[in-house]
Amino acid sequence: MMAGHENAMAVLKIRYEGDPILRQKATKLPKVDDSVRKLADDMWETMLAADGVGLAAPQIGLARRLIVVHVPAGYDQEDDPEFSFRLANPEIVKAFGQQTGIEGCLSIPGWIGEVSRAEAVTVKALDMDGRQIRIKASGRLAVVLQHEIDHLDGILYTDRMTDLSTLRKVSEEEYEEVAE
Ligand code: ZN
Repeated sequence: MMAGHENAMAVLKIRYEGDPILRQKATKLPKVDDSVRKLADDMWETMLAADGVGLAAPQIGLARRLIVVHVPAGYDQEDDPEFSFRLANPEIVKAFGQQTGIEGCLSIPGWIGEVSRAEAVTVKALDMDGRQIRIKASGRLAVVLQHEIDHLDGILYTDRMTDLSTLRKVSEEEYEEVAE
């Protein structure tokens, strides 16, 4: 281990439903610099520590347009690759189709519910080198991207549910499968 290593990642405190920051509209990042990269690293660590598949900056108390996503390999189908993204100012520029699935949120621990989303989306964002990229996503990855981008606009998945009777408290295992 290096002595005096200053870039060690940190696990941040996750904000829960009822915290007003989760209802704020997050502001764009003017640029991707070392402080943004450090924040994304800490969010990444926080997401993994909480066994989540995504995390947005408002969930750690910062109203900035920054998200991290980690969908493990084989999540939807056995041969699906792993998806890992750290995205600044992500924006959905195209959406089509519809899928309905179960979602959970790291800010609403222990609960899951059924939500309808676009089946596929194209997301425009800046990567951690500040380059503009486009991601074409479908299936679970598309759901996670829509869920995280919603967080940047103060929207929680429970706002998107058409049938609140599908909202239920579940075991840790079942929850972690879909927490984002
Ligand atoms: Zn969430």
